[in-house]
Amino acid sequence: MIVVMKADATPAQIEHVAAHIQSLGMKPQVIQGTHQTVIAAIGEERVGLAETLEPGEGVEKVLPIMAPYKRASSELKRERTVVKARGLEVGGHKIAVIAGPCSVEDEEQIVSIARKLKALGATGLRGGAFKPRTSPYSFQGHKEQGLKMLAAARAETGLAIVTEVMAPEHVPMVAEYADVLQIGARNMQNYQLLQAVGDSGKPALLKRGMSATIDEFLLAAEYILDRGNPNVMLCERGIRTYEDHTRFTLPLATVPYLHEKSHLPVVVDPSHGTGKSRLVPPMARASIAAGADGLIVEVHEDPEQAASDGAQTITPDAFRQMMEQCRRVAEAVDRSL
Ligand code: PEP
Ligand code: MN
Repeated sequence: MIVVMKADATPAQIEHVAAHIQSLGMKPQVIQGTHQTVIAAIGEERVGLAETLEPGEGVEKVLPIMAPYKRASSELKRERTVVKARGLEVGGHKIAVIAGPCSVEDEEQIVSIARKLKALGATGLRGGAFKPRTSPYSFQGHKEQGLKMLAAARAETGLAIVTEVMAPEHVPMVAEYADVLQIGARNMQNYQLLQAVGDSGKPALLKRGMSATIDEFLLAAEYILDRGNPNVMLCERGIRTYEDHTRFTLPLATVPYLHEKSHLPVVVDPSHGTGKSRLVPPMARASIAAGADGLIVEVHEDPEQAASDGAQTITPDAFRQMMEQCRRVAEAVDRSL
């Protein structure tokens, strides 16, 4: 439910309605708008609730929140959310670009690529220290050592670090080094992980599960939001279909659809979305044309030698060209990059 307060409602009336919502076993969230205050009642919607709240002093009207996700819904919050982590801002006029290798390999590699990417306009550095690999025999990441290497790259460049956390018990450790906690596609429905990331308060990049519907995706985001962490970015990274010419199928209609349903910023990952390096720049351009607030792209000095995901990884030179093209598309859709 959303309780819309009258424009002249007093702070005491607002507080009273919030306390009433709490006493009914729901969580109140007060949202101060420029003209009016609204109070969201989060929890299971019960019959008769609107009738209970409507007569309250200072209340203008009570509206249901139709979406199953409440805090993520644009019904609850109309202004777009901008997630900030150091120099990385996602959801504003400027499109953010997070770039870097799939895996952190060694300190020299990550520091050197970070310098190049920063010079080419990236605002975030990606790199996995904990790698969720399909095969247990594949490289699993350097773990805490890898996090230290990322921290060294940040010290050199100031780039915000975006890195994956795979287990709830690792959240405090990864949060100590990272600026943004990435939740991988394979963990989108790991509810304890979502809650732990929510509790950390750190900005989160939530990747869509490869078989998840949009409602399931937004409900996963809701787990983080419901723990009091508003800093959630949604990342479309491709889904599994019958199609096999690409590693996954990248559905870009997700971008405007998510913008319609939610106030959270939307990032697109054309690397995992296609699995093929030559398809990455065109799909990056298409993502921006579709309204994406950010891109996350895999870049490596020598993709052939990359420890993981080399086939979908572009070189710094291809990244430079991609940025030039993306800048022009951004301008065409009244954004900057
Ligand atoms: C990654 O970003 O390297 C990754 C493993 O992504 P996803 O979870 O989308 O597969
Ligand atoms: Mn990868």
